[in-house]
Amino acid sequence: MKIAIIGLGVAGSYLLHTLSKEHEVQGFEMQKAGEFNAVCAWGAAKSEMERIFARINIDFNDYVFFNGSHINLELKGKIRKVGCKGLVTYDKHQLELDLTKGLNAKYGERITPNTFPSDEYDLVIDATSLQRVMLPKITDQLLVPCVEYMVEYEKLPYDDFYVKPFSTASGYFWYFPLMKNTAYVGAGDYYRKHMEELDNFNKKHGGKIIKKIGRPIRLSAPEVCQPFTQGNVVGVGEAIGTVFPLIGEGIIPSLQCAEILHRNINDIPGYVEEVKEHFKVYSDVYKVIKLKMNNKLSPYTFIKNSGAVWTTYRTMKKQEERFGLEVRVRDMAEILLTRL
Ligand SMILES: Cc1cc2nc3c(=O)[nH]c(=O)nc-3n(C[C@H](O)[C@H](O)[C@H](O)COP(=O)(O)OP(=O)(O)OC[C@H]3O[C@@H](n4cnc5c(N)ncnc54)[C@H](O)[C@@H]3O)c2cc1C
Repeated sequence: MKIAIIGLGVAGSYLLHTLSKEHEVQGFEMQKAGEFNAVCAWGAAKSEMERIFARINIDFNDYVFFNGSHINLELKGKIRKVGCKGLVTYDKHQLELDLTKGLNAKYGERITPNTFPSDEYDLVIDATSLQRVMLPKITDQLLVPCVEYMVEYEKLPYDDFYVKPFSTASGYFWYFPLMKNTAYVGAGDYYRKHMEELDNFNKKHGGKIIKKIGRPIRLSAPEVCQPFTQGNVVGVGEAIGTVFPLIGEGIIPSLQCAEILHRNINDIPGYVEEVKEHFKVYSDVYKVIKLKMNNKLSPYTFIKNSGAVWTTYRTMKKQEERFGLEVRVRDMAEILLTRL
Protein backbone atom coordinates (compact mmCIF):
# COMPACT_ATOMS: atom_id res chain seq x y z
CA MET A 1 0.00 0.00 0.00
CA LYS A 2 0.94 3.63 -0.36
CA ILE A 3 0.63 5.11 3.10
CA ALA A 4 1.02 8.63 4.53
CA ILE A 5 1.71 9.11 8.22
CA ILE A 6 1.03 12.59 9.56
CA GLY A 7 2.79 13.39 12.84
CA LEU A 8 6.02 11.61 13.80
CA GLY A 9 5.71 11.57 17.58
CA VAL A 10 5.28 8.39 19.64
CA ALA A 11 2.80 6.51 17.44
CA GLY A 12 3.78 8.02 14.07
CA SER A 13 7.52 7.31 14.40
CA TYR A 14 6.82 3.73 15.54
CA LEU A 15 4.50 3.16 12.56
CA LEU A 16 6.90 4.72 10.05
CA HIS A 17 9.57 2.33 11.31
CA THR A 18 7.42 -0.80 11.24
CA LEU A 19 5.26 -0.16 8.16
CA SER A 20 8.15 0.98 5.94
CA LYS A 21 9.39 -2.64 5.90
CA GLU A 22 6.18 -3.79 4.19
CA HIS A 23 4.69 -0.78 2.38
CA GLU A 24 5.55 2.43 0.55
CA VAL A 25 5.35 4.92 3.42
CA GLN A 26 5.86 8.67 3.62
CA GLY A 27 5.99 10.44 6.99
CA PHE A 28 5.21 14.14 7.58
CA GLU A 29 6.12 16.08 10.72
CA MET A 30 5.38 19.78 11.23
CA GLN A 31 8.45 20.42 13.39
CA LYS A 32 11.71 21.12 11.63
CA ALA A 33 14.37 18.37 11.80
CA GLY A 34 16.85 20.30 13.96
CA GLU A 35 14.14 21.74 16.18
CA PHE A 36 12.11 18.61 16.87
CA ASN A 37 10.74 18.47 20.43
CA ALA A 38 9.07 15.44 21.91
CA VAL A 39 6.77 17.45 24.23
CA CYS A 40 6.31 15.17 27.23
CA ALA A 41 7.94 14.41 30.60
CA TRP A 42 9.48 11.21 29.18
CA GLY A 43 8.30 8.94 32.02
CA ALA A 44 7.21 5.37 31.26
CA ALA A 45 7.09 1.86 32.69
CA LYS A 46 10.20 -0.03 31.69
CA SER A 47 8.87 -3.59 31.31
CA GLU A 48 6.15 -2.64 28.81
CA MET A 49 8.52 -0.39 26.85
CA GLU A 50 11.06 -3.24 26.71
CA ARG A 51 8.37 -5.59 25.40
CA ILE A 52 7.15 -3.19 22.70
CA PHE A 53 10.62 -2.31 21.42
CA ALA A 54 12.14 -5.81 21.70
CA ARG A 55 9.56 -6.86 19.09
CA ILE A 56 11.16 -4.48 16.60
CA ASN A 57 14.72 -5.31 17.69
CA ILE A 58 15.35 -2.15 19.67
CA ASP A 59 16.81 -2.37 23.17
CA PHE A 60 14.80 0.15 25.19
CA ASN A 61 17.49 0.13 27.91
CA ASP A 62 19.81 2.03 25.55
CA TYR A 63 17.51 5.03 25.99
CA VAL A 64 16.86 4.94 29.74
CA PHE A 65 18.00 8.04 31.67
CA PHE A 66 16.79 7.44 35.20
CA ASN A 67 15.49 4.38 37.07
CA GLY A 68 13.06 5.47 39.79
CA SER A 69 13.08 3.91 43.21
CA HIS A 70 10.06 5.78 44.59
CA ILE A 71 7.75 8.70 43.89
CA ASN A 72 7.70 11.43 46.54
CA LEU A 73 3.96 12.05 46.59
CA GLU A 74 3.02 15.26 48.37
CA LEU A 75 -0.48 15.18 49.86
CA LYS A 76 -1.71 17.79 52.35
CA GLY A 77 1.81 19.16 52.80
CA LYS A 78 3.28 15.77 53.70
CA ILE A 79 5.46 13.55 51.57
CA ARG A 80 4.62 9.88 51.33
CA LYS A 81 6.74 7.44 49.36
CA VAL A 82 5.10 5.38 46.65
CA GLY A 83 7.31 2.54 45.42
CA CYS A 84 8.30 2.48 41.74
CA LYS A 85 7.89 -0.78 39.88
CA GLY A 86 10.03 0.02 36.87
CA LEU A 87 9.13 3.69 36.38
CA VAL A 88 11.90 5.33 34.34
CA THR A 89 12.57 8.42 32.29
CA TYR A 90 14.11 7.88 28.87
CA ASP A 91 15.41 9.79 25.88
CA LYS A 92 12.08 9.98 24.09
CA HIS A 93 13.37 12.63 21.74
CA GLN A 94 16.25 10.48 20.46
CA LEU A 95 14.19 7.30 20.23
CA GLU A 96 11.57 9.02 18.06
CA LEU A 97 14.27 10.44 15.78
CA ASP A 98 16.08 7.08 15.58
CA LEU A 99 12.86 5.35 14.55
CA THR A 100 12.58 7.55 11.46
CA LYS A 101 16.29 7.60 10.57
CA GLY A 102 17.02 6.71 6.93
CA LEU A 103 13.30 6.46 6.15
CA ASN A 104 11.01 8.60 4.07
CA ALA A 105 10.30 11.31 6.67
CA LYS A 106 9.70 14.95 5.82
CA TYR A 107 10.24 17.30 8.77
CA GLY A 108 9.03 20.90 8.73
CA GLU A 109 5.80 20.01 6.85
CA ARG A 110 2.63 21.18 8.59
CA ILE A 111 -0.22 19.29 7.00
CA THR A 112 -3.63 20.89 6.54
CA PRO A 113 -6.71 18.92 5.42
CA ASN A 114 -7.56 21.32 2.59
CA THR A 115 -4.22 21.05 0.83
CA PHE A 116 -3.14 17.48 1.61
CA PRO A 117 -3.59 15.13 -1.40
CA SER A 118 -5.23 12.28 0.56
CA ASP A 119 -6.49 10.57 -2.58
CA GLU A 120 -2.90 9.91 -3.70
CA TYR A 121 -2.61 7.41 -0.83
CA ASP A 122 -4.35 4.13 -0.06
CA LEU A 123 -4.26 5.01 3.61
CA VAL A 124 -3.59 8.22 5.55
CA ILE A 125 -2.67 7.77 9.22
CA ASP A 126 -3.48 10.74 11.47
CA ALA A 127 -0.98 10.59 14.36
CA THR A 128 -1.16 14.30 15.19
CA SER A 129 -2.36 13.87 18.81
CA LEU A 130 -4.05 17.08 19.95
CA GLN A 131 -4.59 18.44 16.43
CA ARG A 132 -6.34 15.39 14.96
CA VAL A 133 -5.82 17.30 11.79
CA MET A 134 -7.49 14.97 9.27
CA LEU A 135 -10.38 13.79 11.44
CA PRO A 136 -13.63 15.48 12.59
CA LYS A 137 -13.50 17.55 15.77
CA ILE A 138 -14.43 15.90 19.07
CA THR A 139 -17.42 17.27 20.97
CA ASP A 140 -16.70 15.72 24.39
CA GLN A 141 -13.28 17.31 24.73
CA LEU A 142 -11.38 17.28 28.02
CA LEU A 143 -8.11 19.16 27.60
CA VAL A 144 -5.70 19.99 30.39
CA PRO A 145 -3.12 22.72 29.61
CA CYS A 146 0.44 21.71 30.56
CA VAL A 147 3.78 23.52 30.68
CA GLU A 148 7.15 22.08 31.50
CA TYR A 149 10.76 23.21 31.76
CA MET A 150 13.91 21.20 31.33
CA VAL A 151 16.07 22.46 34.18
CA GLU A 152 19.74 21.92 34.96
CA TYR A 153 20.63 22.04 38.67
CA GLU A 154 23.85 22.38 40.60
CA LYS A 155 22.22 20.35 43.32
CA LEU A 156 19.06 18.37 42.48
CA PRO A 157 16.02 19.36 44.62
CA TYR A 158 14.95 15.67 44.85
CA ASP A 159 16.86 12.47 44.24
CA ASP A 160 13.81 10.72 42.75
CA PHE A 161 10.40 11.41 41.19
CA TYR A 162 8.25 14.04 42.95
CA VAL A 163 4.54 14.60 42.29
CA LYS A 164 2.13 17.05 43.94
CA PRO A 165 -1.59 16.96 43.09
CA PHE A 166 -3.15 20.47 43.25
CA SER A 167 -5.40 21.59 46.08
CA THR A 168 -8.23 21.98 43.53
CA ALA A 169 -7.72 18.28 42.64
CA SER A 170 -7.75 19.25 38.96
CA GLY A 171 -4.14 18.66 37.98
CA TYR A 172 -0.69 18.09 39.35
CA PHE A 173 2.88 19.27 39.47
CA TRP A 174 5.70 16.89 38.51
CA TYR A 175 9.46 16.69 38.87
CA PHE A 176 10.99 13.89 36.75
CA PRO A 177 14.78 13.34 36.95
CA LEU A 178 16.51 12.95 33.59
CA MET A 179 20.21 12.52 32.77
CA LYS A 180 22.99 13.90 35.01
CA ASN A 181 21.78 17.01 36.84
CA THR A 182 18.73 17.74 34.72
CA ALA A 183 15.04 17.20 35.31
CA TYR A 184 11.67 17.95 33.76
CA VAL A 185 9.71 20.26 36.01
CA GLY A 186 6.15 20.67 34.83
CA ALA A 187 2.53 21.10 35.73
CA GLY A 188 -0.90 20.76 34.20
CA ASP A 189 -4.18 22.03 35.55
CA TYR A 190 -7.72 22.09 34.20
CA TYR A 191 -8.26 25.44 35.98
CA ARG A 192 -4.99 26.84 34.62
CA LYS A 193 -3.32 27.40 37.99
CA HIS A 194 -0.28 25.39 36.93
CA MET A 195 2.00 28.33 36.12
CA GLU A 196 1.76 29.62 39.67
CA GLU A 197 2.89 26.27 41.10
CA LEU A 198 5.66 25.99 38.54
CA ASP A 199 6.97 29.49 39.23
CA ASN A 200 6.95 28.89 42.98
CA PHE A 201 8.96 25.69 42.57
CA ASN A 202 11.48 27.37 40.27
CA LYS A 203 11.87 30.34 42.63
CA LYS A 204 12.49 28.00 45.55
CA HIS A 205 14.90 25.60 43.85
CA GLY A 206 16.61 27.77 41.24
CA GLY A 207 18.40 25.97 38.43
CA LYS A 208 19.05 26.94 34.83
CA ILE A 209 16.09 26.61 32.46
CA ILE A 210 17.32 24.93 29.26
CA LYS A 211 14.02 24.53 27.49
CA LYS A 212 10.38 25.61 27.91
CA ILE A 213 7.73 23.50 26.22
CA GLY A 214 4.06 22.72 26.59
CA ARG A 215 0.78 21.81 25.05
CA PRO A 216 -2.59 20.69 26.39
CA ILE A 217 -3.09 16.98 26.93
CA ARG A 218 -6.31 15.27 25.80
CA LEU A 219 -7.90 13.16 28.52
CA SER A 220 -11.09 12.25 26.61
CA ALA A 221 -11.35 8.46 26.39
CA PRO A 222 -11.31 6.70 22.99
CA GLU A 223 -15.05 6.03 23.28
CA VAL A 224 -15.75 9.78 22.99
CA CYS A 225 -13.01 10.41 20.39
CA GLN A 226 -14.92 8.71 17.61
CA PRO A 227 -14.93 8.49 14.67
CA PHE A 228 -11.47 6.91 14.44
CA THR A 229 -11.73 6.93 10.64
CA GLN A 230 -13.03 9.13 7.85
CA GLY A 231 -12.69 8.10 4.20
CA ASN A 232 -9.18 6.67 3.80
CA VAL A 233 -7.96 8.39 7.00
CA VAL A 234 -7.42 6.45 10.23
CA GLY A 235 -6.44 7.96 13.59
CA VAL A 236 -3.95 6.54 16.07
CA GLY A 237 -2.62 7.51 19.51
CA GLU A 238 -3.75 10.57 21.43
CA ALA A 239 -5.64 11.73 18.31
CA ILE A 240 -8.19 9.06 19.23
CA GLY A 241 -7.86 9.41 23.01
CA THR A 242 -5.24 6.88 24.07
CA VAL A 243 -4.20 8.64 27.28
CA PHE A 244 -4.89 7.02 30.67
CA PRO A 245 -7.02 9.85 32.11
CA LEU A 246 -6.16 9.44 35.79
CA ILE A 247 -2.45 10.20 35.39
CA GLY A 248 -2.16 11.62 31.86
CA GLU A 249 -0.02 8.69 30.73
CA GLY A 250 -0.01 8.57 26.92
CA ILE A 251 3.25 7.02 25.72
CA ILE A 252 2.51 3.34 26.32
CA PRO A 253 -1.20 3.52 25.35
CA SER A 254 -0.27 5.32 22.09
CA LEU A 255 2.36 2.68 21.31
CA GLN A 256 -0.12 -0.09 22.08
CA CYS A 257 -2.60 1.60 19.75
CA ALA A 258 0.09 1.78 17.04
CA GLU A 259 0.81 -1.95 17.54
CA ILE A 260 -2.89 -2.68 17.04
CA LEU A 261 -2.94 -0.61 13.84
CA HIS A 262 0.18 -2.33 12.53
CA ARG A 263 -1.37 -5.74 13.18
CA ASN A 264 -4.64 -4.74 11.43
CA ILE A 265 -3.24 -2.57 8.64
CA ASN A 266 -5.23 -4.52 6.05
CA ASP A 267 -8.39 -4.58 8.16
CA ILE A 268 -9.28 -1.08 9.41
CA PRO A 269 -12.75 -2.08 10.73
CA GLY A 270 -10.94 -4.82 12.71
CA TYR A 271 -8.53 -2.16 14.05
CA VAL A 272 -11.43 0.03 15.18
CA GLU A 273 -13.06 -2.86 17.03
CA GLU A 274 -9.82 -3.95 18.68
CA VAL A 275 -9.05 -0.39 19.83
CA LYS A 276 -12.54 -0.06 21.35
CA GLU A 277 -12.11 -3.34 23.21
CA HIS A 278 -8.52 -2.69 24.35
CA PHE A 279 -9.30 0.79 25.71
CA LYS A 280 -12.82 0.02 27.03
CA VAL A 281 -11.76 0.54 30.62
CA TYR A 282 -10.59 4.11 29.82
CA SER A 283 -14.28 5.13 29.59
CA ASP A 284 -14.80 4.31 33.28
CA VAL A 285 -11.60 6.11 34.29
CA TYR A 286 -12.67 9.09 32.18
CA LYS A 287 -16.07 9.21 33.88
CA VAL A 288 -14.37 9.45 37.29
CA ILE A 289 -11.89 12.08 36.07
CA LYS A 290 -14.64 14.23 34.58
CA LEU A 291 -16.48 14.25 37.89
CA LYS A 292 -13.27 15.12 39.65
CA MET A 293 -12.38 17.93 37.25
CA ASN A 294 -15.84 19.41 37.52
CA ASN A 295 -15.58 19.22 41.28
CA LYS A 296 -18.50 16.80 41.48
CA LEU A 297 -16.74 13.91 43.21
CA SER A 298 -18.40 13.98 46.63
CA PRO A 299 -18.81 10.97 48.96
CA TYR A 300 -22.30 10.59 47.40
CA THR A 301 -21.16 10.58 43.74
CA PHE A 302 -18.17 8.48 44.79
CA ILE A 303 -20.56 5.76 46.01
CA LYS A 304 -22.89 6.26 43.03
CA ASN A 305 -19.93 5.76 40.68
CA SER A 306 -18.25 3.15 42.83
CA GLY A 307 -18.23 0.68 39.90
CA ALA A 308 -16.16 3.06 37.77
CA VAL A 309 -13.89 3.98 40.70
CA TRP A 310 -13.35 0.32 41.53
CA THR A 311 -12.57 -0.49 37.88
CA THR A 312 -10.02 2.34 37.82
CA TYR A 313 -8.32 0.99 40.93
CA ARG A 314 -8.43 -2.67 39.83
CA THR A 315 -7.07 -1.83 36.37
CA MET A 316 -4.01 -0.20 37.86
CA LYS A 317 -3.58 -2.60 40.78
CA LYS A 318 -3.60 -5.64 38.50
CA GLN A 319 -0.93 -4.07 36.30
CA GLU A 320 1.45 -2.32 38.68
CA GLU A 321 4.48 -3.17 36.53
CA ARG A 322 2.68 -2.04 33.39
CA PHE A 323 2.11 1.35 35.09
CA GLY A 324 5.53 1.27 36.76
CA LEU A 325 4.32 2.03 40.27
CA GLU A 326 2.82 0.64 43.42
CA VAL A 327 -0.96 1.21 43.52
CA ARG A 328 -2.65 1.68 46.91
CA VAL A 329 -6.34 2.24 47.70
CA ARG A 330 -5.52 4.90 50.28
CA ASP A 331 -3.50 7.09 47.87
CA MET A 332 -6.10 6.80 45.14
CA ALA A 333 -9.05 7.56 47.44
CA GLU A 334 -7.28 10.58 48.90
CA ILE A 335 -6.29 11.95 45.52
CA LEU A 336 -9.79 11.47 44.14
CA LEU A 337 -11.91 12.46 47.10
CA THR A 338 -10.21 15.09 49.16
CA ARG A 339 -9.90 18.71 48.26
CA LEU A 340 -6.33 18.49 49.48
C1 LIG B 1 3.66 18.26 29.06
C2 LIG B 1 3.31 16.82 28.84
C3 LIG B 1 3.95 15.83 29.59
C4 LIG B 1 3.64 14.48 29.38
N1 LIG B 1 4.32 13.53 30.09
C5 LIG B 1 4.06 12.22 29.88
C6 LIG B 1 4.83 11.22 30.54
O1 LIG B 1 5.75 11.50 31.29
N2 LIG B 1 4.51 9.92 30.29
C7 LIG B 1 3.51 9.56 29.43
O2 LIG B 1 3.26 8.35 29.25
N3 LIG B 1 2.79 10.49 28.75
C8 LIG B 1 3.05 11.80 28.95
N4 LIG B 1 2.37 12.75 28.23
C9 LIG B 1 1.41 12.30 27.20
C10 LIG B 1 2.14 11.79 25.96
O3 LIG B 1 3.27 12.60 25.68
C11 LIG B 1 1.25 11.77 24.73
O4 LIG B 1 0.00 11.26 25.06
C12 LIG B 1 1.87 10.96 23.60
O5 LIG B 1 3.06 11.57 23.16
C13 LIG B 1 0.90 10.85 22.43
O6 LIG B 1 1.54 10.20 21.36
P1 LIG B 1 1.07 10.48 19.87
O7 LIG B 1 1.96 9.71 18.98
O8 LIG B 1 -0.38 10.26 19.77
O9 LIG B 1 1.29 12.03 19.66
P2 LIG B 1 2.61 12.91 19.84
O10 LIG B 1 3.70 12.14 20.43
O11 LIG B 1 2.16 14.16 20.52
O12 LIG B 1 3.01 13.24 18.35
C14 LIG B 1 2.20 14.03 17.49
C15 LIG B 1 3.12 14.63 16.45
O13 LIG B 1 2.32 15.19 15.42
C16 LIG B 1 2.94 16.39 15.00
N5 LIG B 1 1.90 17.18 14.34
C17 LIG B 1 0.83 17.76 14.93
N6 LIG B 1 0.08 18.39 14.00
C18 LIG B 1 0.69 18.21 12.81
C19 LIG B 1 0.39 18.63 11.48
N7 LIG B 1 -0.68 19.38 11.19
N8 LIG B 1 1.24 18.26 10.48
C20 LIG B 1 2.34 17.52 10.75
N9 LIG B 1 2.68 17.12 12.00
C21 LIG B 1 1.85 17.44 13.01
C22 LIG B 1 3.48 16.98 16.29
O14 LIG B 1 4.51 17.93 16.05
C23 LIG B 1 3.99 15.74 17.00
O15 LIG B 1 5.35 15.47 16.73
C24 LIG B 1 2.66 14.12 28.42
C25 LIG B 1 2.02 15.10 27.68
C26 LIG B 1 2.33 16.44 27.87
C27 LIG B 1 1.64 17.47 27.04
